[in-house]
Parts: sequence; structure tokens; C-alpha cells
Amino acid sequence: MLKMAEKVRISSLPSDLQLLHPLSVRVLDVVPSLGGDEKPRSRPGGLTGNAGVNRSTCTLGFSSLWNATRYRAVVRACVCVVLALTLNCFAVVDLVKAAEATKPPVLPMVNAVRIDTSPTETTIRLSASQQMPIDAFVLEMPYRLVIDLPEARFDLAAPNRGGNGLITSWRAGLFATGRSRIVFDLSGPARVIAHAVDPQAGGSATITIRLQPISQADFQAALRERAVPTAPVVTAAPFIKGDREKPQGQESQRKLIIVLDPGHGGIDAGTVSPHTGMEEKQIVLEFAKLLERKLSASGRYEVYLTRSTDTFIPLGERVSIARAHHADLLVSIHADAELDRSVRGSTIFTLSDKASDATAAALANKENQSDARAGIAAENTPDDVADILVDLAKRETRAFSHALAEALVSAMSRSGHMVKQQPHRSASLRVLKAYDLPSVLIELGFLSNKDDESELESPKWRDQTANAILSAIDTFFATNHPDVVP
Ligand SMILES: [Zn+2]
Repeated sequence: MLKMAEKVRISSLPSDLQLLHPLSVRVLDVVPSLGGDEKPRSRPGGLTGNAGVNRSTCTLGFSSLWNATRYRAVVRACVCVVLALTLNCFAVVDLVKAAEATKPPVLPMVNAVRIDTSPTETTIRLSASQQMPIDAFVLEMPYRLVIDLPEARFDLAAPNRGGNGLITSWRAGLFATGRSRIVFDLSGPARVIAHAVDPQAGGSATITIRLQPISQADFQAALRERAVPTAPVVTAAPFIKGDREKPQGQESQRKLIIVLDPGHGGIDAGTVSPHTGMEEKQIVLEFAKLLERKLSASGRYEVYLTRSTDTFIPLGERVSIARAHHADLLVSIHADAELDRSVRGSTIFTLSDKASDATAAALANKENQSDARAGIAAENTPDDVADILVDLAKRETRAFSHALAEALVSAMSRSGHMVKQQPHRSASLRVLKAYDLPSVLIELGFLSNKDDESELESPKWRDQTANAILSAIDTFFATNHPDVVP
């Protein structure tokens, strides 16, 4: 800190303007005050020499100058600090705003199912954390009540047995982006008398749906009056000859395209473990993501998933997704359950008009129910186009699918458990019905078997099984796509 008693020599003060600027003051040296005879050391042109200013004047002048410049410097420093802090504050506010913008919105909660019954009416009441628009309609084959609402979280108690009037069971979940759905299975034909969302204290609401049992004839008449939405997205386009052109480019240079199809999702949980409540939709999604990484890492395949989140995709849409990607292969991934809990192992399914056995037929029936479980109206899909070229393509596709299934059985038998009898089965599975796209469905194991269930959860088992599937796909393409070097 400089003091008044200290003498300072200053140079380079060419103008008043510079005097006002603290950076124009250059301190040459600072010495203690020794008395009046001491001459200040200066150089020509310096303030204390040529300017003719005596020592005390210079000292006092500089002291004033120093105080003034120091004051300005301090003020400027303070201003800079305040500005920096202010800018930082704005930056922090922006960061907080950005974090809030990317944070997923809190979804409304729907819970507390209450069912009141009378001989003439069944009333369903649900609690919702906020007001929301809903739609309610009935479907047949099987009879169902569908409630559509904005995307929501659910905490619905499991249906209890009996005493629910027309209601036999229910489920809820994501149906499409931004849309959730609750599906109630009905014991017979019914109509919606009224549905409403009534505001409650604190911003919550009560959803009420009143159902009345009606005759089959009245049900059909009611259905005709209302155009029922069938699916959340465009369903599979009809297969038209030549509509699945391969991407342009050298066949031998392109990567083979594989679409992996984790079954179920969203409102359709698939099979549920009787031991732990583990859901098929979650297991198969995790496995498909692992398999996707392995196939992609090989560098030989371009891989797509029909779904990468817990959302519902109709069966027809899964095929459409594969076709839109010009897939060379569709692999649908599932897990099964059996009443006989000793049954275990993986099974590979391919398409056939007639099921290879009763078990395969039952499995196909169960897997084909996915759309019905999600509240999609049954479609009267026309038979395949009667065309000689389509027949030829279908035959070739089935031969490819069969070859892949055999390669999978061979590779997966070496890495883990296959079902004891007939590890390769066939049935009329809707997701395998693309006439020109080799497709297989892998049932990884049985959630009803404790050993299988722990394997399905085991990272080691998943890794081995995914490696086996990769190896089988390599083998399949090496022998069935001679134009493409895998
Ligand atoms: Zn399944």
C-alpha cells in the first residue's frame, strides 16, 4: 500500500486524458522520504523534471492522482465483479430453465378402481390426479370396454375374483405416443350409458363409466353406429407385388438389414411371471437392445427395433416397420409361460398355415391376442393376394425362415437350453406373415419356470444367448445370401 509520505517518480503522462487512466501511470520506483534536500530521480520528459513541478507538489499531486486512479480502479473492479456475477446469474438461470425444459413432465396419476354393480348396471369409478378428457367405447371378439385418455401413470389394483358385474379383468398402460388406455374385459355384450370426468377438491377428478348389459343384436347395432378406432398408427399396408424394393446400391457392399421386434409393450405386458411378477415386455426389450448392440458391433448388419421404449405397437405395424426399413430379416422376441412349471427352454417359431402341434397353436393364439389386449378392434384381414408370384415368394420366404430357425436351434442348443421336444415349431403367427420377408419368432424361455426366469434375468445367459443368435444369423446369411458377404 502506498502512503502519503512515500515519494514516487512517474513517467509517461503525456496528456490529461492519460492522467485519467490509471494504466497510463507507470511507477518507476518507490523510496522512503529522507528530507528536503533529496532530489527526485527522474529522466528527461518525466513529470518531476521537465514539468518543473517541485517535490511536494509532485508528491501531493500524485497522491491525489493515485487516490483518484485507485478509486476508479476499485470502482471498475467492483463493476466488473458485479457484471460477472450478474452474467453468471443469468447463465445459472438459463441452465435451470434448460434443465426444466428437458425434464419430463409429471404425468397425471390414475388409480383406485371401484366397481359398483346392480342387476341392470355396472359402474366403474377411477381416481385421477387431475381433470382430463376421456373417450369410452366397447369392442367385441372378445367383449371389451376401452377408455382412452392422455398419457398417464397408473396404479390400478389387480382385479379381484368375481363380484365385478360385467367386468372380468383390466389392464392399463401406454397405447401410443402421448396416449394411454385402460381396457376392461367384459363377460358379455354391453353398452356405455354414460361417461364423465367430475372435478374434485384439490384439482383431482373422478372418472365414471356406466355400463349396461345388452343383447348381442343391440350390441351389433351399437357397433354399427360408431366407427371404432382400430389402431394408433397406420396398420400394415396390403402386400402388393414389388412394393418392397431393396435400397439402391451394390448388393455386395451394403449391410444386411435386420429388424428386431421385442414383443408386447405399453398396455400389453405379455406374459407375467407367477413367481415375481416380472413382465415379458420388459425382459424382451432388454434382450433385444443387447442383441441390437451385438449385431451392430459386428459391422455386418444395420439393425432397427420395432420399439425401443415401453410402448404398444400393433402386430401389423411391426411388420410394416420391418418393410419400411427394407429388412432382410425380422426377428420377433418373446418369452412364454406354461401351466406346467417344469417346462423350460427356448423355442423357435416359423410361420405355417397349420400349427405343428397343439402347444404351438395355443402359443400362436396367445401371441396373436396382443392387439385385442390393447383394445384394438378385430380386423377381418383378407387372405393373402392370390397371385402366382406371391405364392412363389411366400414359398421361398418360408424356406429361408425355416433355414434360419434350424441355424438358431443349432447355435442356441450349444449355448443354453432348448425345449426338450420340438425346439423348432410352426404356427399361424400374425407377426410372421410378411410373405416376402424371412421371419422367425424366438420364445427365449418360460417365465413360469424359476430356472428359466433367473436365466432370463442373468447378464451371462443373455450374453451367451445373444452371441448364439448372432452366430446363427451369420450362418444363415452365409448360406442363404451368397451375393452378400457377411
Ligand atoms: Zn409374447
